Amino acid sequence: MMNDQNKKVAIVTGGGSGIGFAIAEKFANANIQTIIVGRDEKKLQSAKEKAGPNCFIMQCDLSNLTEIPVLIENVVAGFGRIDILVNNAGINMKKDFTEVTDADFQSILTTNLCSVFAISREVVKQMLIQGGGNIINISSMAAQYGLPKVIAYSATKTAIDGMTRAMATELSPKGIRVNAIAPGFIKTDMTAKALDSDPERKSKVFSRTPMGYMGEPADIGDAALFLASDAAKYITGIVLPVDGGNSIGF
Ligand code: NDP
Repeated sequence: MMNDQNKKVAIVTGGGSGIGFAIAEKFANANIQTIIVGRDEKKLQSAKEKAGPNCFIMQCDLSNLTEIPVLIENVVAGFGRIDILVNNAGINMKKDFTEVTDADFQSILTTNLCSVFAISREVVKQMLIQGGGNIINISSMAAQYGLPKVIAYSATKTAIDGMTRAMATELSPKGIRVNAIAPGFIKTDMTAKALDSDPERKSKVFSRTPMGYMGEPADIGDAALFLASDAAKYITGIVLPVDGGNSIGF
């Protein structure tokens, strides 16, 4: 733990891999003290080694909602403040609509949506004491248009967009900007799982992406760093697609 008054403090959920790691790496390189949160301690440890001395780890399964207030108390105790929260942790499940059980649906909902609400609520309590802050939610193309076989995931990401706007409306007057990023198809473990076994889906992705190739996690990292910075100080309540044009492609 470190309490360096000169540096901003960020939390990136799911910062141990994929898009979350790319965001955490950009923040750490920009001299922001960045706490990455995930379930797998080994994964977090190796991410920390790559991201360098501004990166810190806190192990937590965010689907255990009752652990979240303690997690945030620990961050405030160790770092003194929270300037930026990136709600990136998420899981996907690809199944035919009628095969999805209530338990499946609920488990995606708990991780992708309920935990985002719970951690944001706890962080906002601290940001209100500080008089400001910055929240970035990671949405998806699944909230821009209809995708088959990801019913629970689509429900959560669409809710994230609504929650982003509602939070921005209520919290922006108090100095807290709230935005979302909607990544297109980005090269991570999650997309490998969803696309590698499904060539039809993969070719559809490419055919409707005007730029013609998948994005890199760092593309989302750059967008997050921008939204978290003063360069975006008049931006709140938006859902920013970073997608090679996928959301507007024919
Ligand atoms: P990854 O599977 O690589 O990363 C997901 C991260 O979330 C992991 O680091 C994982 O860490 C963490 N996580 C999952 N469940 C929990 C939990 N219960 N508690 C704490 N941490 C958890 O996926 P991506 O990087 O691809 O996805 C990141 C975000 O971007 C997700 O919200 C996803 O929906 C979104 N997204 C991704 C796209 C893509 O093309 N890749 C496109 C659109 C959106 P651990 O296993 O250690 O818990």
